[in-house]
Amino acid sequence: MNLPRLFHLQRDTDITGISGTGTVAHGVQWPDGTVTIRWTGDRPSTVHWASIDDALCVHGHGGHTRIIWADGQPEQAVPSIAVLLDLVNSLRDPEPCRLDHDGDCQEHYWFEPGTCPHARAAELFPAEPE
Ligand SMILES: [Zn+2]
Repeated sequence: MNLPRLFHLQRDTDITGISGTGTVAHGVQWPDGTVTIRWTGDRPSTVHWASIDDALCVHGHGGHTRIIWADGQPEQAVPSIAVLLDLVNSLRDPEPCRLDHDGDCQEHYWFEPGTCPHARAAELFPAEPE
């Protein structure tokens, strides 16, 4: 995420009887993940939040307010641990590391400090991938 991203808050049911329904606020998600929301209505106000989750926690009214991104892109779903583990297992090289005298892995061209990621990935799985 490098550019500010525009959205509006769409309220389908006004459980407070104050804010009304329809577009109740416009907002910007900044590149650092913080969010600014400008409420519409007779007494507009502007609120800043640390994250979109914080904003929806307070203003979501139990799912009655939805975030609609102006670019039409849905919020990217966070993959499950199982999906990530399967991906790691698919990407890792079953060949064992070959460490040189500096402790670098010549097999996987790992010359950074710390253990080669293929060795770290192997520790996550008891059996070699097929
Ligand atoms: Zn290695």
